[in-house]
Amino acid sequence: MQAPTSMTLPTAPGINFHRHEIPAWLQTRYIETGYRANLNFLQCFTSIFSVHNEVVAIWTHLLPALVFGGLTASFFFSNHRHSALFAQTSFSFTLVFTASAFMHTFNPINEEWHLWTLGLDWAAIAFVIYGVGHSLSSLVYYHDPRRQDMWKLAFAVPCSAFASIASWGGFHYLPQVTKISLVLLPSLAILAFGFDLCHRLPSHELQIVKDVMRVPLLLTISGILVYGAQFPERQFQDINFDMTRGHHLYHHVWSSAFAFIYLRNTWKWAQKIGIKHY
Ligand SMILES: [Zn+2]
Repeated sequence: MQAPTSMTLPTAPGINFHRHEIPAWLQTRYIETGYRANLNFLQCFTSIFSVHNEVVAIWTHLLPALVFGGLTASFFFSNHRHSALFAQTSFSFTLVFTASAFMHTFNPINEEWHLWTLGLDWAAIAFVIYGVGHSLSSLVYYHDPRRQDMWKLAFAVPCSAFASIASWGGFHYLPQVTKISLVLLPSLAILAFGFDLCHRLPSHELQIVKDVMRVPLLLTISGILVYGAQFPERQFQDINFDMTRGHHLYHHVWSSAFAFIYLRNTWKWAQKIGIKHY
């Protein structure tokens, strides 16, 4: 069915519009009802306490953002010798979850907000890849500052390139395949880093890295597969997924779990080794 013209759109604020009552830029594939529209900034903010089709997405990243914000502060004010590194990692997670919760809360204000909050969300993904790449290269090459610097640069270049493209207003209108290809820029750095680790680390150190990264890696792979397949909305189109958001909600859950497990595992590991360089 065609989206209605602006002449037929409701103008009163609401939090349970049907897909066909809202402008095309607000519509999400497979989601039929529960749309917010015609809300101002304050109404969007208070809507986080109401039931609509983005409320679960908001809270599944807002709560981790608050927890990682607290962890960042506690690492920052700690005198522990690893605290700077872990404050940086934790801050990266805080930023990406905050950007996501912000986007899900305020994107319905108008089309301009919709585009720039989505761009912010994508740009924050590049930032978190850089933050994690930076901290992980500091950990695995703790004995080799030159190699740390090389990998920090190798993560910084593609991540800043991707963040710049993502924050451009027209990014959202690029075909999905183009957006995913652009994500490959930082992903190539991750793959090259993994390749370097496998060839450089002694086998007992490589085993420790594998132990630390096993669960986060499995979560990432399952997340990419579910997101790519758009499971279960695409396969079960007769079911209404408005509150659970299907594959997008799973992306929120696995990414939060990834962040907690990654931080916990690397923290435990850092206790065992004598990191001297950040
Ligand atoms: Zn999201």
